[in-house]
Amino acid sequence: MQPSLELIATIYTPEQLATAPLDAPQIALAGRSNVGKSSLVNRLAGSKKLAKTSSTPGKTRSINFYRVHPAGYHLVDLPGYGYARISKAERAKWGELIEAYLRKASGLRAVAVLLDSRLDPQHLDIDMVSWLRQAGTPALAVLTKADKCTQRDLSRRQAQWRDLMRTPAPPLLFSSATGKGLAGLWHALDKAALG
Ligand code: GDP
Repeated sequence: MQPSLELIATIYTPEQLATAPLDAPQIALAGRSNVGKSSLVNRLAGSKKLAKTSSTPGKTRSINFYRVHPAGYHLVDLPGYGYARISKAERAKWGELIEAYLRKASGLRAVAVLLDSRLDPQHLDIDMVSWLRQAGTPALAVLTKADKCTQRDLSRRQAQWRDLMRTPAPPLLFSSATGKGLAGLWHALDKAALG
């Protein structure tokens, strides 16, 4: 059966985290704005409308909690980071919200870090991966927009990230445009959330 997603909570400030379901088993989705996170969430949901996609990056300003049916764990869509065309103050506010969530989410099993397969590792992505390693939180790397690259470039990018992250498993390949990697992504999410 195709899993489905139900939006159960939306959080805008660190204070509101007190009301969020932080204890339930959950996987967070993180990535730079425009990496294709909303498109990926919509693919997981089998719907074009659940998460707002936009050609204007940085539109998702909240943390959205989705319950995965029937598995029962939560997927937590974090605001995209690194959007350049906003004020420094606003960017810092998002950073604080993401960090507060990562520190407080006792049910957090792993963070799926979305990485643009077309780009060399970006310093904000490397920062995120390092932060997670220091916190002891498993990172699940996902290369997005895989339809935009040749298999040769994808293999090279996978090897690059595997070395950087010092993990034996290469990043998953995913395309919201074609659906490539969808089954593998669900498998990895289920396994990380439920063991
Ligand atoms: P977000 O800011 O991370 O939520 O990114 P979006 O999901 O809004 O996607 C940003 C842009 O990349 C949009 O123009 C999408 O149509 C495009 N995009 C997202 N995923 C894919 C993909 O798998 N393949 C291709 N070719 N384009 C994609």
